[in-house]
Amino acid sequence: MKREFQVQSGRNLRCKGWRQEGLLRLLENVLAIGEDPDNLIVYAALGRAARDWPSHDKIVETLMTMEEDDTLIVQSGKPIGCIKTHVDAPLVIMANCNMVGQWAKAEYFYELEKKGLICWGGLTAGDWQYIGSQGVIQGTYEIFMRIAERYFDGNLHGRFILTAGLGGMGGAQPLAGRLAEAVILCIEMDEKRIERRLADGYLDRQVASLDEALAAVRAAQGAKQPLSIGLCGNAADLYPQILAAGVIPDVVTDQTSAHDLVYGYIPAGYSLAEVKELRKTDTKRLMEESTRSIARHVTAMLGFQKAGSIVFDNGNLIRTQAKNGGVADAFSIPIFTEAFLRPLFSRAIGPFRWIALSNDTGDIAKIDDLILERFPDNKIVTNWIRLARQHVPFQGLPARIAWLGHGDRTELAVAVNRMVREGVLSGPVAFTRDHLDAGAMAHPNIMTENMRDGSDAIADWPLINAMVHCASKADLVAIHSGGGGYSGYMTSAGVTLIADGTSAAENRLMLSLTNDTSLGVMRYADAGYPDALDEVERKGIRHFQLANAKN
Ligand code: NAD
Repeated sequence: MKREFQVQSGRNLRCKGWRQEGLLRLLENVLAIGEDPDNLIVYAALGRAARDWPSHDKIVETLMTMEEDDTLIVQSGKPIGCIKTHVDAPLVIMANCNMVGQWAKAEYFYELEKKGLICWGGLTAGDWQYIGSQGVIQGTYEIFMRIAERYFDGNLHGRFILTAGLGGMGGAQPLAGRLAEAVILCIEMDEKRIERRLADGYLDRQVASLDEALAAVRAAQGAKQPLSIGLCGNAADLYPQILAAGVIPDVVTDQTSAHDLVYGYIPAGYSLAEVKELRKTDTKRLMEESTRSIARHVTAMLGFQKAGSIVFDNGNLIRTQAKNGGVADAFSIPIFTEAFLRPLFSRAIGPFRWIALSNDTGDIAKIDDLILERFPDNKIVTNWIRLARQHVPFQGLPARIAWLGHGDRTELAVAVNRMVREGVLSGPVAFTRDHLDAGAMAHPNIMTENMRDGSDAIADWPLINAMVHCASKADLVAIHSGGGGYSGYMTSAGVTLIADGTSAAENRLMLSLTNDTSLGVMRYADAGYPDALDEVERKGIRHFQLANAKN
């Protein structure tokens, strides 16, 4: 059966309430804008919305028929059953891709996946929170701006950023680079991905050769003209060639799917078709070839670093894979979270999002206005909203992201819920956030690398986070694990709330969002970050500042 991927618009309900309908529309949305919806793949190589089509169809059927006091249980993308709870309990709880410690290895994941026993939900695929490239665009933009402030007198005019990967998330890079007013060259193996980013308005132009690319970069740098350029090719070939040519970019990073040596990264010397075949016939060889290429790729990144480029890992585990491939100093490249974003996370300022369930872009515009009016002194957010409303195209249901923190998220969501109630907005709004958020993720190679107190690998925090949301009446709560090779590298928690205008929704939003960011600040305060300790004081968060007894 050929499937159509569409999201229901307007105010017509197919479910028994807006909470269920909202979650159903979010599921439809992640597929409508996903990278390979026929295979239920949303982003990041294997990030799936459901385990298989029968699972998907049963989830849809359940959302359409369940009562408000039912809770649907999803295990690695497969609906297991429904239990009777109460109207304040989550409608959906899910755990995706959590494997027991000693078993959490890539090879075992692939084996279980083949048997149909598990699936990886990424961060926002399995729990239906993905909003397209916009989901990471402000984060990428903020990183570029922090680099501008720290190294380039506050702006990136005439500066050259080199990166790779134009997939679901990496596709945000060209637009984030252009918004930061830089010249950004993006290398991508798959022609179709380049075409998609051009069509979506995330990429300005495509060039046919490296010479043409470097000439275009030089011209745009000379004219101090922001520009994003796509070049089809393999980063493991092209990064070393650029370095050998003596062209040293100001900033270098990468967002290929290096976390996955089989279904993500494309090794040099292989066409997409050859890799597709190897996935079926010889995954061991493919893993070896990918590791070899990543080693070359990262060695070139280290070469750029030695030559003066600002180089950072943008959360795709490329350093870990390179280290496994023999690049001993791969971790000389810093991770973006520690290098640029930790002061924000210490105050639980992170990637908060909202999605207009009616599909009316006017609703997002009204919420933009509300933010500019309510948070005039928050420069990060007001600057972003002005840029985003002018330059960031919507994909699927209209959505917005803004890095808001403790108290501000709740204030915004409650105000929006009132706008829904008063009919100012044309329909309910979903609130969610990335899992890469203060209290919601333990990932020792990304989110929690080099924590001040050494608590990098402690996964209690995201588990507590999910329990906090269940105790705080959230509509959907998810616990995910995975990272490199989909296992063993991280644990995280996700949450979604539907602002349907009711007073029950207002209560849910107040509890869940306030407690989410409270926990985020507590996590960083507990690790001894001064910004978090200050936030505890300023915002009256009830954190017990107990010293850790050493045994
Ligand atoms: P994706 O699978 O949709 O896209 C990856 C792209 O990389 C594909 O288009 C692929 O063709 C391309 N590619 C693979 N190998 C290549 C090579 N050698 N040379 C050139 N291009 C190559 O993945 P995505 O959703 O864009 O995510 C990319 C990575 O970023 C993942 O590892 C993901 O886990 C990570 N990620 C980081 C953050 C963050 O917050 N920093 C957020 C989301 C995802």
